Amino acid sequence: MARKTIVAGNWKMNMTPTQTAELIETLKPLVVSDYSDVVLCVPAIDIPAAVAAAKGSNIEIGAENLYFEDKGAYTGEISADMLLDAGAKYVIIGHSERREYFGETDETVNKKVLKAIEKGLTPIICCGETLTQREQGITIDWVRQQIKIAFQNVTADQAKATVIAYEPIWAIGTGKTATSDQAEEVCGAIRQCIKEVYGDAVAEEIRIQYGGSVNAGNAAELFAKPDIDGGLVGGASLKPDFSKIVNYK
Ligand code: PEP
Repeated sequence: MARKTIVAGNWKMNMTPTQTAELIETLKPLVVSDYSDVVLCVPAIDIPAAVAAAKGSNIEIGAENLYFEDKGAYTGEISADMLLDAGAKYVIIGHSERREYFGETDETVNKKVLKAIEKGLTPIICCGETLTQREQGITIDWVRQQIKIAFQNVTADQAKATVIAYEPIWAIGTGKTATSDQAEEVCGAIRQCIKEVYGDAVAEEIRIQYGGSVNAGNAAELFAKPDIDGGLVGGASLKPDFSKIVNYK
């Protein structure tokens, strides 16, 4: 079964609502694509402006995080229902920056994944190793563990509709991209892990992105690999050149 490529931007803490509307207006005609789904994950406060600007286009809007409780005394947090009501369809979960700066663990990632699925948001579930872990030769063990915990209590039917983003931490925002062989090795290992847990059908269907300094110049080689189904793109998603990543062929 051929999987459709999915290219998602991660804007991080960039763009005001006004800037969001302007950038999406610019991107809209450029990111039309026959073969890639296009998602922009934006700061929560930008979601209404992003949804309004993207209306009538092929761009879906996502969030960069959510909280795993439904409502209550969690000052500063944002629930799945709030994201859905604002028009988000996707949500990034467990980005390495959230793990590093905001104390996210594999366990909180799992709770967030379960909540996103329960509510009907598609999670983009991030995993990836540090440079030290790569040098220690434990990349695949580490990523398998992250994936196994992230998917605890997720059913096969639910799992196949999720998206995984393999993002080596040493490649994020550094301009240092994993080689396409390095990226394929780990994305293939993630697919194998999904196969062991859920079987062939889910492993065939689930989409696995590579993320880490993807740009217009390297997307084609990365996305041509059999187990890489597109990318999670940080810096390059803030520029019109993002369209060249979406239309990488
Ligand atoms: C990311 O933030 O998920 C990312 C991959 O960033 P960049 O493309 O800038 O490395």
